[in-house]
Parts: sequence; structure tokens; C-alpha cells
Amino acid sequence: MCRHLVYLGAPRLLTDLVLTPPLGLLRQSYLPRDMRGAGYVNVDGFGVGWYPGGGDKAVRYRGSRPLWADESFAQIAAVTEAGVVLAAVRSATDGMPVVHTACAPFTDGHWLFSHNGSIAGWPGSIGALAAELPVTDLLTLDAPTDSALLWALVRARLRAGADPGRTLAELVASVAAVAPRSRLNLLLTDGVTVYATAWGHALTTLVDRDSVTVASESYDEQPGWEQVPEGYLLRGTATTGVQCRPIEPSRTDHREGVQ
Ligand code: GLN
Repeated sequence: MCRHLVYLGAPRLLTDLVLTPPLGLLRQSYLPRDMRGAGYVNVDGFGVGWYPGGGDKAVRYRGSRPLWADESFAQIAAVTEAGVVLAAVRSATDGMPVVHTACAPFTDGHWLFSHNGSIAGWPGSIGALAAELPVTDLLTLDAPTDSALLWALVRARLRAGADPGRTLAELVASVAAVAPRSRLNLLLTDGVTVYATAWGHALTTLVDRDSVTVASESYDEQPGWEQVPEGYLLRGTATTGVQCRPIEPSRTDHREGVQ
């Protein structure tokens, strides 16, 4: 399953967040430590999103090759600083295409989004939820994948003015209700606040006085990394740290069978 990360804090080189940490995303692309039985490596592309000049418009760089194979990204990362970054390396779920458009982050204006996991029973299990979307949203998905559909559902609710944390929690609960055994670790930022769910996969945080990192796996062995409990929604900012609360499960959810 993919690995992802959000950093909020003082500006840092993308290299220092993504490529050089000893256990960071580069290493997680070929030697992740906590995949929970869902895949072995994360070599089906990658993506990095950030906010140039500290502005509120997100940009991203995505590629369909393994993170280590993209020399152009390494050059850009070595000279690009950002105070807010969302990055991911991908392990394509069986049957889903290996194309750069399937890689996180998905984006819309100031939003950056990633999904680590899979929807069980895709695509049949999720048909009724997908039908809530305007046809044009379905025709213009980034890619024919579960993650791109989840992003379209999140984006539609955000555009309608919904609260971001509640949006993620409600979506996780409603997908789990119709597709039990799904893994739904979602990660969303607007450039100020990070929202994340731990649902079927590992999620960990590193908080210090003026930064917050939320990641599938810790990127080094320094003390201070803390696991987010399974079934929780997280909200964090660089100045207020992180707060977590349980996601209200739907009555028809049966997570004990997570695959
Ligand atoms: N199911 C998603 C995809 O194929 C995410 C994969 C993952 O988390 N490994 O892109």
C-alpha cells in the first residue's frame, strides 16, 4: 500500500523531507517497514505537492516511475523549499493502471489529497456512492482508480462548503459500510491544516514546537514519533499540534475482517 506524508512548518528543501531522511519516502519506496500484508514495495510512481512562495495555490510533480528513477525531480527537490508539503509513493492496487495521473497528490486550488489503501470489492461495492457525483466529475476522474474516486467525492463535498475533517470521517464511515475490509487512510491539507484518517493502515506523527509531520511511517529513528490509533481522525497545524478523535463507524461496518 502506498506511503504518504504531510509536513507543516518552517520551509525545508523537498530533498530533506522526501529523499534524504534515512527511513523516508525514498527508502519506503523499496524497503517500507509496515505494509500490513498489503504489497511489498511502492514503485508504481510518486507525487509531491507544495505551495510555491508560501502562497495558497498548490502545485504538484507526479511521475509513474519509482521515486529513485526520476532525476528531474531530484534536481528540482534540491533547490525547492516549502513550508507545507504532501508527498506519496504508490503501490498500485491489483488491476489499477500504473500511470502518473493515478498518483497522489490529487489537487484542486489549495487542496492536496492522498489515499493509502484500497476499496474492497472495487468497483461494484462503491457504485451507489459514486452515483452521488455529477456525471461530469465521473467522466473527468484523474484516473480509473479507487483513490481518484475518493478524491472526487471529497472534492465535491468541500466545494459544497463541508467541514474538511467531518468530510473525511463521514466518507470513511460510509465507504466502510458498503465495502467492509477497505483500507482508507486519507490525507488532506489546505496549506494550513492537515486532516488524516487511520483506517486499516499505519499512521504516525511527529510534533515539535513549530512543525507537524503526519506520515504512514516515521522517516527516521528520533524519539517523538507517535502512532495514531486505528479508527481515528486527526487534525493538526504547525502551531497547535495534533488532535485526534474516533471516527464514528456506521452500524454496518465490520472492520475486523480488514485484508
Ligand atoms: N488503491 C490505490 C491505487 O491503486 C492506492 C494504492 C495504495 O495505497 N497502495 O492507487
